[in-house]
Amino acid sequence: MRKALITGVTGQDGAYLSQLLLDKGYEVYGLLRRSASAEVIDERLRWLGIAGRIRMVDGNLTDLSNLIRTMQEVQPDEVYNLAAQSFVKTSWSQPLLTGNVTGGGAHNMLEAVRIAAPGARFYQASSSEMYGRIQEARQSETTPFYPRSPYAVAKLYAHWMTVNYRESFGLHASSGILFNHESPLRGIEFVTRKVTDGAARIKLGLASELPMGNLDATRDWGHARDYVRAMWMMLQQDTPDDYVVATGRTVSVRDMCRIAFAHVGLNYEDFVKVDPQFLRPAEVDVLLGDPTKAREKLGWEASVSLEEMIVEMVDADLARHRARMR
Ligand code: NDP
Ligand code: GDP
Repeated sequence: MRKALITGVTGQDGAYLSQLLLDKGYEVYGLLRRSASAEVIDERLRWLGIAGRIRMVDGNLTDLSNLIRTMQEVQPDEVYNLAAQSFVKTSWSQPLLTGNVTGGGAHNMLEAVRIAAPGARFYQASSSEMYGRIQEARQSETTPFYPRSPYAVAKLYAHWMTVNYRESFGLHASSGILFNHESPLRGIEFVTRKVTDGAARIKLGLASELPMGNLDATRDWGHARDYVRAMWMMLQQDTPDDYVVATGRTVSVRDMCRIAFAHVGLNYEDFVKVDPQFLRPAEVDVLLGDPTKAREKLGWEASVSLEEMIVEMVDADLARHRARMR
């Protein structure tokens, strides 16, 4: 039985990846950081019905000694480093923490693998935010980076460190440059989930408006379930490499709002209000990925359209609120 260790196991991608690996017969270990709210920490895993099937290991990305001992004890075949301070806006209010966890934490993971599990295959969760102020209309593996937030700078450090450990120490280390991916398990602070939850609350009479930031930004949005499949595929390759994972279509926040509100029979313009507190000190205006390499080398393709995904998310949020109202 193959063993996989996932950091960030309680997050959106950690939950879907755990499900995928359990379905494939893996023994799944999750690095779990201590929380005072232990009863809600595995909410996403419970939503997927897999909470009891993951072997949790107490740990934190900022504690290298803990990570080395974890590698020694688990001896994983595959390591997926998904843990991060992952919210761009928070990276301006907590820039040093973001550097320590999202950048330095990934470096700690690489060191732990190098020292205690050098035969393991390693996946780093890189991000399209690294393209920031875009240098090419469609971003591929060869597009130069221009990060626009402390989060993106930290991710870029982790990305190049992954490349460097592959080239310096021969680690089987791959980096997935994933464009935004969403689901009913997306954190409520991210724009898609904020909008699907807002549309559901307004439809049910629980709210009357939705304050938002920049509606003109555009993103290449896919479904998290598709994107974790790409992570696994990368680690099945004989040779480690870096891949862009994206749909190849970009849509504005405004149009995403239109789709979500239309699904509940409402016009977003009646409810969405721009509130400056949700604007950012530096914006990433447009992201549009070119997933040609992932398609040709991995045989990966996105299978869910933005419209299908938003409908799934709105329906899930309606169901959640209806259950609470009972
Ligand atoms: P989430 O924010 O949903 O999950 C982040 C996870 O990291 C949580 O399990 C969190 O634990 C954990 N974590 C945070 N800090 C630490 C720490 N110091 N030590 C250990 N664990 C920690 O992120 P997603 O699932 O959406 O994303 C997964 C990864 O992919 C992240 O690295 C993200 O930056 C990256 N990414 C995501 C994209 C997306 O669109 N979703 C796009 C490109 C990259 P806890 O539950 O305790 O908070
Ligand atoms: P990001 O691409 O990782 O920053 O993902 P987000 O979902 O947080 O934001 C995507 C885009 O939506 C960014 O350009 C934001 O500026 C924009 N946006 C507009 N209004 C909001 C809002 O109210 N919340 C969030 N999170 N983003 C918003």
